[in-house]
Amino acid sequence: MSFSANVKTELCKANVSRRCCAVAECYGVLLTCNRFAPSGIRIVTEHADFAERLPRLFRRAFDVSFDSGAEPTTSGKYIFEISDPQKIAIIYDAFGLDAYGNVMLHLNRSVVENECCQVAFLRGAFLCGGSVTDPEKRYHLELTTTHTKIAAELYSFLLDMDFSPKETSRAGESVLYFKHSDQIEDFLTTIGAPVCAMGVMEAKVEKTLRNNMNRRCNCDDANTTKTVNAAYEQRLAIRKLKENGVFETLSPKLQEIAILREEEPEAPLSELAKRLGLTKSAAQHRLKKILEVAQ
Ligand SMILES: [Zn+2]
Repeated sequence: MSFSANVKTELCKANVSRRCCAVAECYGVLLTCNRFAPSGIRIVTEHADFAERLPRLFRRAFDVSFDSGAEPTTSGKYIFEISDPQKIAIIYDAFGLDAYGNVMLHLNRSVVENECCQVAFLRGAFLCGGSVTDPEKRYHLELTTTHTKIAAELYSFLLDMDFSPKETSRAGESVLYFKHSDQIEDFLTTIGAPVCAMGVMEAKVEKTLRNNMNRRCNCDDANTTKTVNAAYEQRLAIRKLKENGVFETLSPKLQEIAILREEEPEAPLSELAKRLGLTKSAAQHRLKKILEVAQ
């Protein structure tokens, strides 16, 4: 199951209890669904738990049932529809809208006044019009709606709740989205998915650990390369001194470390120093001397 689906499963565990919250949750669903118009309502989802929740939600909120949608289509989609004008009028009325008037759809804040209802409203909006990317891949959570005006009103609603989404549009849909893991965690916690919010947090910690480890490995690699290169240069110098017959003229101290270097072609400086009972800087000094003479 995708991370998004996991979030929706967690959200669907919330009870359908208070009527005010049921109305608010339906509002979130309807403002982000495929079709919410006086001529008909159409909600499409692939999520089984959400499909199971929807009819209960609408019954609790409006005492209204769907005309279709209980069974999934062959492609696994649940398509909930209401076309009965009387049912639609009841729903519009609950939001203070007139299905027969020429009122443009907008976010009626009085429906989502209570704090409990605000959470329910956002839960509905996410269940129907939301998605979130697996935090192991990247951080992205979005809410989409086909109504530009609703997107703008939802935007200021989120601002009032201390969220600061970004806005864009895609294929005729308005998109509000979050790119920061902190905001995604907060949003998921707020709407009732604290376990998934924790998942985002864990993914972030893991990512940071992995990055630090990579950085350290790269650093180790760089050090190893440096050691190997330095040792190679030293061996070249020693060979040159031997070929030119200069080696024998070196002081015993220099000869000693040169011989050890040839025996241990890739050992780090610290290792050579230890074997000769020298400090690292003393060993370095002698090797540097050998390079100088060779030059
Ligand atoms: Zn409520």
